[in-house]
Amino acid sequence: MLLDKSIAELAGLLRKREITIEQLVLESIERCEQGVSLNCFISLRDKQALLKEAREKDAALSDDKHLLYGMPFSVKDSYVTQDLPTTSGSRVLKNFISPYTATVVQKLLDTGAILIGKNNQDSWGHGGSNENTDFGPVKNPWNPAYISGGSSGGSAVAVAARMVTFSIGEDTGGSIRNPASMCGISGLKVTYGRVSRYGTIAYASSLDTVGPLAKSAEDLAIVLQTIAGSDPKDGSSSHRPVDTYTEGLTDGVVGKKIGLPKQFFAENYNPEVRSTILAAVEQMKELGLTTVELDMPMLNYAIPIYYMLASSETSSNLARYDGVRYGTGRENFLPESARRIMLGTYALSAGYAEKLYKNAQRARTLLIDNYADAFKQCDFIAAPTTPSPAQKFGELLDNPMENMLADLFTATINIVGVPSLAVPAGFTADKLPIGLQIIGDKFQERAILTLARAYQDATTWHKEVPEIHL
Ligand code: GLN
Repeated sequence: MLLDKSIAELAGLLRKREITIEQLVLESIERCEQGVSLNCFISLRDKQALLKEAREKDAALSDDKHLLYGMPFSVKDSYVTQDLPTTSGSRVLKNFISPYTATVVQKLLDTGAILIGKNNQDSWGHGGSNENTDFGPVKNPWNPAYISGGSSGGSAVAVAARMVTFSIGEDTGGSIRNPASMCGISGLKVTYGRVSRYGTIAYASSLDTVGPLAKSAEDLAIVLQTIAGSDPKDGSSSHRPVDTYTEGLTDGVVGKKIGLPKQFFAENYNPEVRSTILAAVEQMKELGLTTVELDMPMLNYAIPIYYMLASSETSSNLARYDGVRYGTGRENFLPESARRIMLGTYALSAGYAEKLYKNAQRARTLLIDNYADAFKQCDFIAAPTTPSPAQKFGELLDNPMENMLADLFTATINIVGVPSLAVPAGFTADKLPIGLQIIGDKFQERAILTLARAYQDATTWHKEVPEIHL
């Protein structure tokens, strides 16, 4: 299978003319067809148009083309595109075709990467199970009785089931890392502002980030190199020059310190997840890292801070779907989204904003201080990605509180704005993937990718491929 190879390997084979872009795209289409019951796409491009594009790209291939030239990829349906509809996983946006294309998608198209289709997601990014969608739940390729995780579940499944070489997800409180972890692939949440959000359907504007999901840290670095950078169309994008992420990734991490917050290693979550993450920490010590215990008391408040802020911001962002300018009526929001709109409206209302929204903002600053202190003592922070492996369908949908607690280890990172990635670190006894989370200080994407690369050079978890269940 070609799609099991790394981006660099595929690019090498293309340049040696040992394979063609047409073969690669055809395999991608066939994998999407075989795995159709996983339900990870909302829209796919027309097969003949894709093959035509592939043949044209084959004819124009030369050695100086970008590494991503000819690579089949997908994007979460929260990115607007001119050629395919954009739904954000909701029937509120049924039949919506955007007049412009998101910066992240445009940058990838400009390299010659080939957009295969757009992925299913929890609507508006609300959720962590990919059941909160108007397009049917996304199934986990490791066992279709289980959720894919979310909200970028479609993207994670498309990569895990080797339908595309990489996918672009969106992470407000864990939505790239959570499904990456549950599907056994790698996913990167960037520093706030590192990748342009222009053309991303907004969930919570002070938390939203754009990032890649791929088979390995090496592939994540290649995609990040392409999509990172300031954008005149996004006032919150950073002007800081973009690092070189693709070079020196094998420099190693000897002598670096990894922090272990005691709040992340308490015995209050799934024991198989905890023991897997502790084993991964031991493995990292063998790579030459030392550990330091951290006390970050504000981590205990991450979920209430996150849900107060995220709900407030989403109640404001979703106000535009009033059925007048575009979108259908507001009665079409699913219960999870309606709950958040109501909670956020309440938190922002006169008389309550001081106590709820503004207090959450103050607590946010204290959490930022906790992280700043932590990064004076260490280079990285290790954590589980999710408190449990993938659940069976219905478990989280029936229990909204449990659904929120699933963001325990991921949402804190968005509140603070630092980068973090999830990499496969093992499996449960039932063969469900478990993901390790590696967190870095602001703009330290290169550092966390280097550690993830060193970890992946020493382990084989990321090489395991699920049988596609039909
Ligand atoms: N599960 C979280 C939520 O529902 C994260 C969502 C996200 O990152 N888009 O808010």
